[in-house]
Amino acid sequence: MIPEKIIDTHMHIEAWENDEYSFIDCFEGHRELSPLASLNICCLSASQKGVVNNIMAGLYKLAHPNTYIHGALDHFILPITEEVEEGTDLVTQYRELMEIGFDGIKLIEGKPTALKPLGGNLNHVALDKAYAEMEKDGTHIVFHINDPQYFWERPNSDGWYYGDGTYPTYDQIQRQAYALFEAHPRLKATLAHFFFCGETPEIVEELFAKYPNLCVDLTPGCEMYHSFEANHAYYKEFFKRNSERILLGTDGTFPWSTKSHVWCMGILYDFIATTKQNMAFDDEILTGLGIDGIEKENILWRNFERRVGEKPKEINKDALIAYYEKYKRYMSKDTIERLSPYLKKYLGV
Ligand SMILES: [Zn+2]
Repeated sequence: MIPEKIIDTHMHIEAWENDEYSFIDCFEGHRELSPLASLNICCLSASQKGVVNNIMAGLYKLAHPNTYIHGALDHFILPITEEVEEGTDLVTQYRELMEIGFDGIKLIEGKPTALKPLGGNLNHVALDKAYAEMEKDGTHIVFHINDPQYFWERPNSDGWYYGDGTYPTYDQIQRQAYALFEAHPRLKATLAHFFFCGETPEIVEELFAKYPNLCVDLTPGCEMYHSFEANHAYYKEFFKRNSERILLGTDGTFPWSTKSHVWCMGILYDFIATTKQNMAFDDEILTGLGIDGIEKENILWRNFERRVGEKPKEINKDALIAYYEKYKRYMSKDTIERLSPYLKKYLGV
């Protein structure tokens, strides 16, 4: 049991059910047992279409209103183009999500596996227009850009390998990100997984100095924890100095078990708030930084509340129904059947 307030700011739903429960309650065990003050679901266009994942998150929030949700933008035509069906451009999708009651936006578009089919350009004009709107509104973004450098070097146990010449390189993606920040200097983005810069924290610190609204999160990524451990004293000072720029999340994904989410949150808490040694994410030793006081609270929950809101927004049911009606033509029959009992129960349609 974690003895103080904490928010899991980065979680995903990638299944309808596991052996024990359905998606509609999938993080409630984690909420109760960790325990969490709140949690944030980041939607993806992955195993479901983004629009489907967004609707699932909206339903989750209706069932459990103390839940933050970050919506995904969907790309119905690949590679990315401005020539889309009327009313399905990214700015319109973004506006719809805000009206439904999403608390922010999740962008996976900078992950090599997502960026490649999009056409490899994170600054495509269609995306750029959406960034501009989010920047103007001060909307929080959980932004996945890049991946661990060794994914380009050798095939690894997670199955990611980008070294076959068909993916943009680590450096190319990083440069695209710099151009993006330069074009949108007030973008309120939290770069997931420490922007994959565990070996080059000076890059993160330069970005912090230049762009006041940029933060990073600590979702593992085993490799960044190796860097934190190898440079323990340096990182202790880094985390204290930058405590207003760091957020905590597990990347906990349904259908994984409640136990795995609780375990991960426990390790993260111990790493920030205690000096305990644990076997961390790949059975390597991780020594707690022992950060205290307001600096600790910033990382555990204050930064997220400051950036996203002290309470999750309410769901606008009519807007969620309209969204479903609009996008159901992109869904399979099976998806519509699976959604149907939840739509009936929570939206009366
Ligand atoms: Zn994630």
